[in-house]
Amino acid sequence: MTHRTVIVGAGIAGVSAAAALRSAGYDGTIDLIGQEPELPYRRPPVSKEIVRGDKSADEIRIKKAEWYEQQGIGLRLGASVVGLDVDARAVRLSEGDPLLYDHLLLATGGRARSPWQAAGVRTLRGLADVPRLKDELAAKKAVVIVGAGLIGSEIAASARGLGCDVTLLETASLPLPRLLPPELGQMYVDLHRAEGTDLHTGVMVSSIEDHDGQTDVRAVDGRTWTAPVVVVAVGMDPHVELAEVAGIVIASPADGGGIVVDDRGRTSAPGVFAAGDVANQPNGVLGGRHRVEHWQGAQNHGTAVGKVMAGGDDAFVEVPWCWSDQYGANLQVAGWPEGSHDMVVHGSIADRDFIAYLLDDGVVRGAVSIGRPRDVRSARAWIGDHARLDEVLEPSA
Ligand SMILES: Cc1cc2nc3c(=O)[nH]c(=O)nc-3n(C[C@H](O)[C@H](O)[C@H](O)COP(=O)(O)OP(=O)(O)OC[C@H]3O[C@@H](n4cnc5c(N)ncnc54)[C@H](O)[C@@H]3O)c2cc1C
Repeated sequence: MTHRTVIVGAGIAGVSAAAALRSAGYDGTIDLIGQEPELPYRRPPVSKEIVRGDKSADEIRIKKAEWYEQQGIGLRLGASVVGLDVDARAVRLSEGDPLLYDHLLLATGGRARSPWQAAGVRTLRGLADVPRLKDELAAKKAVVIVGAGLIGSEIAASARGLGCDVTLLETASLPLPRLLPPELGQMYVDLHRAEGTDLHTGVMVSSIEDHDGQTDVRAVDGRTWTAPVVVVAVGMDPHVELAEVAGIVIASPADGGGIVVDDRGRTSAPGVFAAGDVANQPNGVLGGRHRVEHWQGAQNHGTAVGKVMAGGDDAFVEVPWCWSDQYGANLQVAGWPEGSHDMVVHGSIADRDFIAYLLDDGVVRGAVSIGRPRDVRSARAWIGDHARLDEVLEPSA
C-alpha cells in the first residue's frame, strides 16, 4: 500500500523534510501545503535585500518550481490546512477534499506578533508584507520601529540605508537582548547611533494610535514619537492552533510555547511530527527544552525529522547558530550566550573584528562574533562537547 505523508507549511522546515524523505528513498506520496501563495522562499533576506530592493523574490527561492515536480512532491500553494483529526489521520484543507496521512509534519512556523492595530502599523514576517513597506521606505518616509531584536534592528539598518529617518525603540536596556550579553549589546547601541538611527532603550510602549495621517507611539512614561509608518517587531507567535484543537500537547508561553516534540520530532499524537520555529524541542546539549527561531535550525530540524519519517531513528542534537546583517556587519551567534557568563574576547570589539566566548565555569556555552566565521564553527563544536576554553585553546603538552 502506498504510504502517505502530508507536510503542513512550505517554509524551510517543511521543504527540507520533503527533500530528506526523498533522499532517504521514501517512495510514498508527499503533499506539501503552503498557506502563502509564493513558491517557497528564504525568509532571512526579507528584512535585508528584499525590503531594500536589492533582490527580487525570484532570487530567494528555496528550490526552483521544477524541483518539486522532479521529486514527486505535490506542492499546493495558497492552501491552508484548517482542521486536523488525529484519530482519522486526516487533515481538512481550506478547499478540496480532506487528505489522509500515515505521517503528518506540522512545520507551520509563526506569525509576527502585533498588539497594536493602528492603520500606520506594519509587521514583517514574509513577502506579502513587503510591497507597501518597501514603497514607504523607498519614499524615505520617517519610520519608528518598536523592538530592537534581530528583525527590528535589521529593518532599522535597511531603512537607514534607504535614507529614512529612523527611530528605534526597545524595552530592554540594550538592543538584541535575547542574543547578546550586555558588553556586546552596547556595541550595537554605538553602531545604531553611529549610523544615524535614533535609538531609545528602556522604552515601554503603551499605545500606538493614528492621528491626522500620522501614527503616534506613546510610552508609559509619556514620551511620544510620531511618524507616518510604525513597524512593530516584538517577536513571533508560533502557529499552534491546528495542533492545539486536535489535542496535541503544546508548551506554555512561559516555556517558550510551540508544539512539544521529542528528540525525533514526534508530537504527542501517533504519526504526527513537528519541526522548525513551531517546535518546542528537547535541548540535547544542555538539557531542558527550547524553541529555536533561526534559519539553519529550522532547516536542519526539518531534515532530521524528514529522515525519521522515512524510517530513520537518529535524534536531533544541534548547537544553535544564527546570523544577522546590520549596516554591513555580519553578526554570528552560536549556542546560548544569554544569562550571566564570563566572557573572553579575541580581537577588537571596537573594530568589529572579534569573537567573544561566553563561559560558565570555564566551559564554552556561547560565542558571538563579527568577521570571524571560522572561529564560530570551532566554537560550535566546543559548545557541543562541553569543552573548557583553556583546554581547547591552549592544550597542555
Ligand atoms: C524577516 C525575517 C528575517 C529573518 N532573518 C534571519 C536571519 O538573518 N538569520 C536567521 O538565522 N534567522 C532569520 N530569521 C528566522 C528564520 O527565517 C526562521 O527561523 C525560519 O524561516 C523558520 O522556518 P519554518 O519553516 O520553521 O517556518 P516559516 O518560515 O514560518 O514557514 C512556515 C510556513 O507555514 C505556513 N503555514 C502556517 N500555518 C499553515 C496552515 N495551517 N496551512 C498551510 N500552511 C501554513 C506559513 O504560511 C509559512 O509559509 C528571519 C525571520 C524573518 C521573519
